[in-house]
Amino acid sequence: MSGITLAELLARETREGDLYDTLPDGRLRCFACGHCCPLPEGAEGVCKVRFNQGGRLLVPWGYVGGVQCDPIEKKPFFHAHPGALAYSFGMLGCDLHCAYCQNWVTSQALRDPAAVAPPLGTSPGDLANDALRQRARVMVSTYNEPLITSEWAVAVFKEAKAAGLVTGYVSNGNGTPQVLEYIRPWVDLYKVDLKSFDDRHYRQLGGRLEPILDTIRRLHAMEFWVEIVTLLIPGFNDTRDEIERLTAFVASVSPDIPWHVTAFHGDYKMTDPQNTTAEMLLAAADIGQANGLRYVYAGNLPGCVGDLEDTRCAGCGDVVVARFGYHIRDYRITPDGRCPSCATRVPGRWSRQFDGQIASRPFIPGKRGIQFKVLSTDF
Ligand code: SF4
Repeated sequence: MSGITLAELLARETREGDLYDTLPDGRLRCFACGHCCPLPEGAEGVCKVRFNQGGRLLVPWGYVGGVQCDPIEKKPFFHAHPGALAYSFGMLGCDLHCAYCQNWVTSQALRDPAAVAPPLGTSPGDLANDALRQRARVMVSTYNEPLITSEWAVAVFKEAKAAGLVTGYVSNGNGTPQVLEYIRPWVDLYKVDLKSFDDRHYRQLGGRLEPILDTIRRLHAMEFWVEIVTLLIPGFNDTRDEIERLTAFVASVSPDIPWHVTAFHGDYKMTDPQNTTAEMLLAAADIGQANGLRYVYAGNLPGCVGDLEDTRCAGCGDVVVARFGYHIRDYRITPDGRCPSCATRVPGRWSRQFDGQIASRPFIPGKRGIQFKVLSTDF
């Protein structure tokens, strides 16, 4: 095993994927993400984890790059089972290469030698059992881009759903109609990072704006529960004009989609911009509200953003969920998902009752949990 590279190791941890076609010239067309890479024999996609071997598309299988138990508010989902524990797993690799990625150790593991993330062998059943053992209510594919490993996510979520768990993607939204149809039976919640509303900015990150907008429209039409996050980066995506257009777009899809505008702090290769201040978040939130968005949240600066951590009823304005950071301070939504003061429906996926908060901080599953198979000691 000594001397094996991460790419060589991961090339062994694969199986034939479902999300591809064979083109008339013999190349394969992958449609797990919006790049829709055409792959001649021996070629790998932009994501570096899916590749054409002998006319078959091989895709990641049988491992995780990390597992963590997070409060669902960290994803962030604010309108889905508040207080629930979200058992979160990821694989390795990404179809984008954002210079400020906060999960770069897993997402850029195949591009950046400084990103060292040992893959751990496991099975869908073991992950679902471990989630139950940790008292998770939700299971989420996150930390790297879940779209590019959708075959594995679906296998895990089949077990999760059989065990009664709610499932979700935390994604950059660079999808295709085919991958959304493929995951629809198995994914309940979908968070999209809408990183900018300028195609030139998206190209800097390795993507394009249009497939992401198309994915958001489709997700809503297909009745996934969608929440959108924009990390506000001074000097990158924070002009008034860009936030105007971005929030007007979200409101045009549905004013009921929660929009989280969150504070940037220097990370990975993007350490020059100043950190986002509370005033910047509040100004962006004002624009979103003025554009008709009913549920606007300001994140990453707990206690500094007034009531923009709370959920208010769109009918009477009463607070129905009060928060501080990931912590639920008060929960008043009725068992049928309404405001207790005026009976206005609060859009989202609500549990029949609030069972308290299992954890308000992330934690690594305990030692008595899942036993992962170490695939190599080289990493
Ligand atoms: S997942 Fe995306 S980047 Fe990877 S091979 Fe498929 S289309 Fe290309």
